[in-house]
Amino acid sequence: MSQSLVIFAPSGSVLYKYNNKLSPFNDFISEIVNGTCTELEPDFFTSTINQKRLYCLKRKNTYAAIYFDAVSTLDSDKIKSCLVDVLKIYLKVTEEELSDRSEKLQKLIDYQFNQLMKLLQAAKVAQSLESGPESKTNSGTSTPKKVQSQTKKTMRKWDGNQMVEVNANEVLDYSEGKAGDDSAINTDSLVSGDAFSQQDDLVLVNELNDILDEDVPSDEVSKKSGFFGKISSYFGGPIDLDEVSKTFTDQFISKNIAPATAKTITDKLNHELKGKKITLKDYKRALTVELTKILTPNVSTDLLYDVKRNSSTSNSRPYVISVVGVNGVGKSTNLAKLAYWFLQNNLNVLICACDTFRSGAVEQLKVHVNNLKRLNTTTNTKIDIFEKGYGGGDHVVATAKLAIEFAGAEGFDIVLIDTAGRTHSNAKLMAPLKKFGDAANPNKIIMVGEALVGTDSVEQAVNFNNAFGNRRSLDFFIISKVDTVGDLVGSMINMVMATKVPILFVGTGQVYTDIKRLSVKSVVDALMR
Ligand code: GDP
Repeated sequence: MSQSLVIFAPSGSVLYKYNNKLSPFNDFISEIVNGTCTELEPDFFTSTINQKRLYCLKRKNTYAAIYFDAVSTLDSDKIKSCLVDVLKIYLKVTEEELSDRSEKLQKLIDYQFNQLMKLLQAAKVAQSLESGPESKTNSGTSTPKKVQSQTKKTMRKWDGNQMVEVNANEVLDYSEGKAGDDSAINTDSLVSGDAFSQQDDLVLVNELNDILDEDVPSDEVSKKSGFFGKISSYFGGPIDLDEVSKTFTDQFISKNIAPATAKTITDKLNHELKGKKITLKDYKRALTVELTKILTPNVSTDLLYDVKRNSSTSNSRPYVISVVGVNGVGKSTNLAKLAYWFLQNNLNVLICACDTFRSGAVEQLKVHVNNLKRLNTTTNTKIDIFEKGYGGGDHVVATAKLAIEFAGAEGFDIVLIDTAGRTHSNAKLMAPLKKFGDAANPNKIIMVGEALVGTDSVEQAVNFNNAFGNRRSLDFFIISKVDTVGDLVGSMINMVMATKVPILFVGTGQVYTDIKRLSVKSVVDALMR
């Protein structure tokens, strides 16, 4: 399959390229400049030139463009979402002051591109399976496991005139004003079967397991063999501590651990091991223990136990959880995932719309609540939304207080409060969080942070942790979009190490069951690989 990706500046100069084949982009760029190609949405272009299908997205004066064989078909939303992530990564990583920035860029961007190519491949396989028994025998037996699960997630949706294929991975994307047609969505595609397990009368979230083992970017494999090739001569014999320590520091940085954090970890180990004769195996074992210690929570993360205990007391105050984080990280999606899980556990959930700032945010939550209502046919529980429209800081506080009162009076066990996304480095935007925390006094404050972020995650976590004043801090993190970073899971270390706040769940996709408990071992293994 012929395919390529390029990032370029408005001047046309190439900032990043994958696959080296630039020529097909030239005609496309001139079509964009001349306004002769199709603009699917503002700043999202497409064209078919010389049997190639091309797409281009513009963000912050930077363009990401992609092409592949015109015979391949994929929902343009999926392609847009890949290009959004590619540009997001590019803009973020180029801001970072890293010596090996280009290596990190290459890994993260190529990973996004490869994921998209896999979807294309899966769509092709699905097409050939549908096109008759002959092709079924040809491709059916060799279909890889991952491809099968992706094709299974494809669903049909009525778009007003005809049935169209929609990838289920996108079904919870109600950001950017997509909140219109929830009633058309088939509820089967909003959940998947294997995320939860039953233990007595409790429904428990399963542990993150194979996600981090899959899809190691290909250059990672070759790098890995290079590294081991270099170091294997030391295997069994004493090592040069400084050299090994530097190698692991670099490896951690390439896996999204912030440089200062990576150095703190390896320096600590150096200090402990200095003067001792150790082998590479000893070093790796000690480093594994160190990373495990960092990620292992020293407080209970049994949120369900807490909530159940609260609702079994005569206390009429519901259990209040509020979700905070920067814009677009997945606050409302993950709040809705929590709501779904609580409903499965026979708890009544009130969702309170306290993002009263961003236009469309209340409507976005309503779509989630409507979906959850339609999914909630097997339990005797109820879910509803509490909203008082849009307004400033005082309005947020008043809405939260009213919601908690209402929930207490109406027999809701939990209030889940969505809050406005805010830039962690903007003191003016962060200040209202303290007032909100004091007034709503949530039982738990959860920050949603993206696995994609990298170095900036340290500052994000610290600023949100400090935003609630001296007597209050974050209780948990939910790390979203872990499904989009392969084994580059260093943000988890950044956030936990900077704050000592434990990770409650990780988000692994865009359906309501796409949450997992953290598997410390899987994350540590991914970082050590
Ligand atoms: P908010 O602005 O923080 O409330 O973010 P949203 O909940 O609107 O989510 C922003 C985008 O991230 C949407 O497209 C979501 O579907 C997507 N998203 C959220 N969580 C995950 C996740 O765990 N994995 C993936 N792949 N996408 C996610």
